[in-house]
Amino acid sequence: MTNWQEAKLAREAELCFASLAMVTDYDCWKEDEAAVEVEDILRVLHENAELARRSVAAVVGALPSQRTCGCGSALANAIITAPDKISAEARRRLAPIVGKYFEEKP
Ligand SMILES: [Zn+2]
Repeated sequence: MTNWQEAKLAREAELCFASLAMVTDYDCWKEDEAAVEVEDILRVLHENAELARRSVAAVVGALPSQRTCGCGSALANAIITAPDKISAEARRRLAPIVGKYFEEKP
């Protein structure tokens, strides 16, 4: 499965993004593997869920308190609409994501 949609949406929201992908079986492409059984998938799924929980906890615990990447300002130069052409309704609707770019500069 791809997650380009999630990566794109995270970028548009100026969020850092990483994915963690886990495999439950090789049934669909690896011809030398036996056919997969539902029980096997469920067992691996549960193992993966626990591994994912531990992985996320470890990663979150290792993150710096301040991010130094450019994700938080990814849209700084992305709004090309003239400020006076952005309606009040659009400013209100987009404020949670890009409101900081609508503020008047001193
Ligand atoms: Zn980032």
